[in-house]
Amino acid sequence: MNAVLMHEHGGPEVLKYEEIQDPMAAPGEALVRVRACALNHLDIWTRKGEAGRHIALPHILGNDIAGEVVSLRTPVEGIAPGERVMVSPGTSCGRCAQCLSGEDSSCRNYRILGYQIWGGYAELVRVPVPNLIPLPGHVPFEEAAAFPLVFLTAWRMLVTRARVRVGEDVLVWAAGSGVGTAAIQIAKLHGARVIATAGSPAKLEQARKLGADAVIDHHAQDVVAEVKRLTSRKGADVVVEHVGQATWERSILSLAHRGRLVTCGATTGAAGATELRYLFAKQLSLLGSYMGSKGDLLEATRYYFAHRLKPVVHTVLPLPEARRAHEMMERSEHFGKIVLQVA
Ligand SMILES: [Zn+2]
Repeated sequence: MNAVLMHEHGGPEVLKYEEIQDPMAAPGEALVRVRACALNHLDIWTRKGEAGRHIALPHILGNDIAGEVVSLRTPVEGIAPGERVMVSPGTSCGRCAQCLSGEDSSCRNYRILGYQIWGGYAELVRVPVPNLIPLPGHVPFEEAAAFPLVFLTAWRMLVTRARVRVGEDVLVWAAGSGVGTAAIQIAKLHGARVIATAGSPAKLEQARKLGADAVIDHHAQDVVAEVKRLTSRKGADVVVEHVGQATWERSILSLAHRGRLVTCGATTGAAGATELRYLFAKQLSLLGSYMGSKGDLLEATRYYFAHRLKPVVHTVLPLPEARRAHEMMERSEHFGKIVLQVA
């Protein structure tokens, strides 16, 4: 098969399109022909090997996969070769207490496709059968590939962890990011009022189109003051934080009394200062969130297939142009997902 491999950590230039031997499915796995694979920031960190993300090389990136089942190592009821599928990105042992209580992202053996194991920048990929999610005929591969990781992450953050409720004010940082586009829609789906930030007038306009009730330019405006103004000085009930060091302090200051800050990432750095007086006096909750369970993803997927949630695809590039796709993502000019199309 053809695949984009990385033989060393580094810049986008380490991504090489080459021919390698086809993978073989192990017992309990399916072989999937990849039709589309979306990029995530995790791809960039894995490529760079920063923050302890050194992995076995060579490696194939790609967490978010949609395609067709080629073969199953052992027959599985309800899934036949040719089935169109979306792939749940997290794998786990399936036997431990965490897995059996539906908390598979807390499994000691939790692995993410394209991070700790080979992913979807390839024509073929091995996938555990429980990770296959059959696709309805109306869902195109390029769109389905843009769904799993960011909607799983945002669903886990807002619904499972922060328990967002009708009428609450939710602040979403970086509306144009994958998690941002998903969080805006999920918060709206649950009846919240969404305040979204972005870094350009065009992105602010797109955030509004996606459902944001109010928008803030995080470069040109004082985010904390704007949140206070928009909420009649109350503050945000929930802050969706995935930016890290650059926004952490403002996230804390934007919270209402008994507000919840939920974070899934630290793109700009992991050191965030917290004024402890705010934490106790305002009775704030700081919630961590990491990926999510297969159950979280299946719940979000129901809304996707029922046309209530929709992944935002910025652009689709052919697989051999993975390097250009990475360069585009690092420039942060996109709104929504960058997707690789695999012929
Ligand atoms: Zn487990």
